[in-house]
Amino acid sequence: MSEKYMKVEKIGQGTVIDHILPGKAFDVLRVLGLSNDRSMSILINSHSGKGGKKDILKIEDGELSPEEANRVALISPKATINIIVDGKVAKKFNAEAPEVVRGILTCSNPNCISNQNEPVVSEFKLAVDDGHRYVCTYCERDIVDLAKRVSP
Ligand SMILES: [Zn+2]
Repeated sequence: MSEKYMKVEKIGQGTVIDHILPGKAFDVLRVLGLSNDRSMSILINSHSGKGGKKDILKIEDGELSPEEANRVALISPKATINIIVDGKVAKKFNAEAPEVVRGILTCSNPNCISNQNEPVVSEFKLAVDDGHRYVCTYCERDIVDLAKRVSP
């Protein structure tokens, strides 16, 4: 079988999220809040050029806003976002961890006010000392394993 049959079809319009950490594509889907009725291709543990593995997510007919795209960095800090227009990469940028995250993550502290039945939206701030730790605004608890804290 020639290599071209192994490749996933190119998309005309949409967004390709590349360099997702291997096995994390489904967590990325959750953090983006994309529903299953969208036309998407997901590659899990795809071979990347340098002998490593990565996941790739292709979303057809949907351009992610920078705010949405940056949520990807919660799960996979080195992901790159490619906006595809007419089959070509029109824009390419790295997902950047947002400074403040509201309503996407849940606090791991069961006593936190954001986990009571109060009309409080969860809020986390990026810790300044390293790139991948968030602190709850209300109870100051650290959230380390972000993939596990994405709201269902
Ligand atoms: Zn909290």
